[in-house]
Amino acid sequence: MEKQKFSRRRFISKYILAGSVTLGTGMLIAGSSVMSMAKEGDSQQQPKTPQPVKKNPCDDLTGVSTEEVAKRKKLAYVNDTPIPDNHCSNCALYLPPAKDKPCGGCMLFKGPVRAEGYCAYWAPINN
Ligand code: SF4
Repeated sequence: MEKQKFSRRRFISKYILAGSVTLGTGMLIAGSSVMSMAKEGDSQQQPKTPQPVKKNPCDDLTGVSTEEVAKRKKLAYVNDTPIPDNHCSNCALYLPPAKDKPCGGCMLFKGPVRAEGYCAYWAPINN
């Protein structure tokens, strides 16, 4: 008797296996896309609000005359010293901040001065 090349049992088991693999793969892909959408949804629920940039009060030149602003520019005043060992707070011309005030001053011009500032007239404190 000739053995049948195609049996119903082989056909069914072969296609059930193939169908299971296809279905499983589809579920994996769908699951991963749902997870990524959930993550996006989380980030959308908590929108990042831009944090206001805190300005240093010593940079506020409101009320300082244009002549005084021009003086500080002429002296090449900068808010952050390029020379780490030389800064306003160890300059002989620095005026330390008054009590409860954030900014110091300088004997050469009016307006707020940062302790970490610097200008071309920096002079060492003589002890
Ligand atoms: S002279 Fe220059 S370095 Fe000295 S306190 Fe004034 S701004 Fe700062």
